[in-house]
Amino acid sequence: MSDASQLPVAVDIQPGEDIAAYLQRVADANYLDFPVLTGHRRTARVWEDPDHPLLARLSSITGVAEERLRAATLRGTYPGMALGRARTGRRYAGQPATCPRGCFDTVAARLNLIVLCPNCEDLLVDRLDPGPLPAPVSLREVHHDVMTTLGATTSSRSARDRLRRLESLMAKVELALWRNWPPLFDGETQQWRTRAVRWVDRNVITGRYTIARPPSITATLLTLTWDAAADRATAEAMLDDIAIMADPWDPDPQEMPDWRNPLDARDGLLDLLENLDIQARHVPTILRLHDDPIILPEHHRTHRTAEALALTALASQAHGTPMTIAGATSLHAADSSPRAQRVAARLLDDTDALCRLAVHAERLHSAGLLDRAQARAELRGIQRLPSSALRDIPRARPARRRAPPKPVKRQHRDLRQRPRPRNETPPTHLVAKPAHQQQRPSHGRGIRLASPQHRGDSRCWLTTPNPTCRPSSTSLPARPSMPISNALLTPTTSPRPD
Ligand SMILES: [Zn+2]
Repeated sequence: MSDASQLPVAVDIQPGEDIAAYLQRVADANYLDFPVLTGHRRTARVWEDPDHPLLARLSSITGVAEERLRAATLRGTYPGMALGRARTGRRYAGQPATCPRGCFDTVAARLNLIVLCPNCEDLLVDRLDPGPLPAPVSLREVHHDVMTTLGATTSSRSARDRLRRLESLMAKVELALWRNWPPLFDGETQQWRTRAVRWVDRNVITGRYTIARPPSITATLLTLTWDAAADRATAEAMLDDIAIMADPWDPDPQEMPDWRNPLDARDGLLDLLENLDIQARHVPTILRLHDDPIILPEHHRTHRTAEALALTALASQAHGTPMTIAGATSLHAADSSPRAQRVAARLLDDTDALCRLAVHAERLHSAGLLDRAQARAELRGIQRLPSSALRDIPRARPARRRAPPKPVKRQHRDLRQRPRPRNETPPTHLVAKPAHQQQRPSHGRGIRLASPQHRGDSRCWLTTPNPTCRPSSTSLPARPSMPISNALLTPTTSPRPD
């Protein structure tokens, strides 16, 4: 609109009303199309943080002060907010959540942490969930706190910290919901929870994650995590719990030993490890089942790494050398998060966890024990490949386009002198093949493992000593040293609950 004169019909802006919603009412009252009035679409992101010239023009045609219009934007209402952050930011820029009672759209409803209509306190709806169940009773209280905290983000560092913790907890609980956990909160019905679980299962677990989640799901996540977000220690403890819960594997009860308490379980497991002659050096850096994907989904990794650390420490103890989790970590020589180490320490005192470790130990034994410590030591010693290794590499397939390799650190220069042609399998004499290994990956490409838990174990096909070389920053193709079954060679999606 180029004409800066005031419109025939003036409309008052409501407290808390979103600028775009207000301008829509102005346009309707004056029989104008929204884009004709404003020069932008109703759903444009410009309404989150419009610039001065736009606001000045709108002010002159609506008669509403520029500052008042600015206060009706996301930036004006929450000046300290990181609008780009999916969970607090401009999630609803395109299709804002709305009140089912037809209240005017609020600025707050643009944020996905706002789940109740600030006017009538009904659960907001959006296109992903147009007809949710009535909101649980405890949600109102939590929601009030969330609104207050959001409003304080500009002035209060602790409010910002809390929101950060909250977002992190919500992201993790989304996955935990998959297993119908944590327990129902006050006023939540099983029916409500079942809908939430189904939604997470459909949209998060299968990888079809959408940044916009319906207010009903956010409401569940908010209520489950708000208390735990209060301080760092509680948030960490809950994240530790979630790391355990997020691992979907439950051993067959037939396979599980019948140990009744942590002491019995610890003794039983130590005996088992001794009898199977499983030593610390036999335990991989992450416990993967034969039908798991080669690279475990991220939400399984913490627990499986923790299980590997715990089993390593116990295997060492079973053979007369007590070992701490820190000791196991340093033996693995692979990155593991403080969370994985904390969880590992917890597993040592948990009957169920120790029974699970017994099942892992049996499986490890029946798959054939490999001396992984030696493999890791050799891996750490790589300085250069024999030139014949590069010459003799069999060609697998015509080269395919691939991302350029990461920069290699100076100490790896020798490895780069004659770069390995792309898409070729490693020389057979450099592959440490367990006797029972059935088949090589059919695609014939090296598997590029960026994940820390695979360092060490997966690159053990390279052999030449030099203690200064660390393999983690190379981009050499690597192979898993775990037994490979045919099931591993087919692309696998994340395991699903039954
Ligand atoms: Zn309402």
